[in-house]
Amino acid sequence: MKIGLEVHVALPTHSKLFCSCSTADVDEPNTNICPICMGFPGSKPSLNEEAVRIAKTIANALNCKINQSISFVRKVYFYPDLPKSFQITQLQGSIGLEGEVTLSSSKVHIRRIQIEEDPARVIREAKYTLLDFNRSGIPLVEIVTDPDIVSEDQLREFLFVLRSLLYYIGVDIDKEIKADLNISLAENRVEIKNVTGIKNLVDAARYEIKRQSEIIKSGGVPEKETRSYDEKPQSTISSREKESDEEYGYIYEPDLSEFSVSGLTVPEHIVDARKVSRELAEKHNLDYKTLLELIAFDTEAMSLLRYGLEKSGLPADVVVNALEAKKRFGKAVNEKSLPLLADYIQKGIQIDRDVIMRIEKGMPPAEVEVSNEDTDKYIKEELSANPEFIEKYKKNPKVIDFMVNTVSRKHGIPQKKVADRIKHILAEYLK
Ligand SMILES: [Zn+2]
Repeated sequence: MKIGLEVHVALPTHSKLFCSCSTADVDEPNTNICPICMGFPGSKPSLNEEAVRIAKTIANALNCKINQSISFVRKVYFYPDLPKSFQITQLQGSIGLEGEVTLSSSKVHIRRIQIEEDPARVIREAKYTLLDFNRSGIPLVEIVTDPDIVSEDQLREFLFVLRSLLYYIGVDIDKEIKADLNISLAENRVEIKNVTGIKNLVDAARYEIKRQSEIIKSGGVPEKETRSYDEKPQSTISSREKESDEEYGYIYEPDLSEFSVSGLTVPEHIVDARKVSRELAEKHNLDYKTLLELIAFDTEAMSLLRYGLEKSGLPADVVVNALEAKKRFGKAVNEKSLPLLADYIQKGIQIDRDVIMRIEKGMPPAEVEVSNEDTDKYIKEELSANPEFIEKYKKNPKVIDFMVNTVSRKHGIPQKKVADRIKHILAEYLK
């Protein structure tokens, strides 16, 4: 059995590959567009250096030989996602060649890493087709492997290793790792196009291996073909939508000259999490693995950790605690909220959703002591806003928790205090 992959990775650049349109994810279709990324006749591409820098970083991480002078080709095909009828990509002039990824008991050779443009998004409706060009021209790298993978387990391991290698250099493919799988159990190669996500890729391979081995067992030969994967019944279906690779026409791209990558350095926002963790762990006497786990899959967390340890003046253990809270509460934990969060941590208060909400409102842990009268007033307000509460309470005293939570949250009063006062008030109401 032989499995090879063509993995597509979107590069975290600010603008598209050949024009200055933004790569930001926007809901409104066809807003980040211009004549270049829509392929208008006469429009000329100009290469985004940031994309080349990131692609070079990836090629380095996958142990590729770097092509010092890269060039582009036109891959000609006719399909509505590319109105200019060709995709700008790379072949011999690819940025990275002959790399390898080491697995626990084998190696996967990387044939090449090429830079290319994403086509438009095609949305099929019952009676018509829609096109969204926001995606058109987004820079991708395609990572092409040799067919070195020989089992489902190796495929899974390769995808996980690739994912973490890319994560460590700041390229997040968790949500949308996209790949074509080439699987051959006999002489003919079957290609499964456009499978998204690690789980689906492994499932698709498992299904396809089973399908081909059944054909072989019954004396047949699997046909050379292109199939697509359907995750619902977990099966692959024969598809002949686009031509096979051999049928594409390639010509060189006359609008882009050869580009030298020799002087290009890693862009500032692409940072190796392993390096950062090692440096910070050593300097602040912290555990390397803990730091790596906190920042590996999150560039925001990485810069917060740096800020916390180097600039905030907070003790290192408090910063690490805050980063742990960030893992759970995401964006709510940031440079701005860090000092307040640190107050809570230093007072030994457990960080839960309530605390995060208080922090978001800028409420310090040592309550600006809310008086008993004010607390009573807030409780009474809440009770009159919920006239059915008393009846509910008579049937089930446990509903008091909800009321305590609501008042505590709204006004930043500790739950215990609200619970004390509410009991007094309810006793009066129930007299
Ligand atoms: Zn554009």
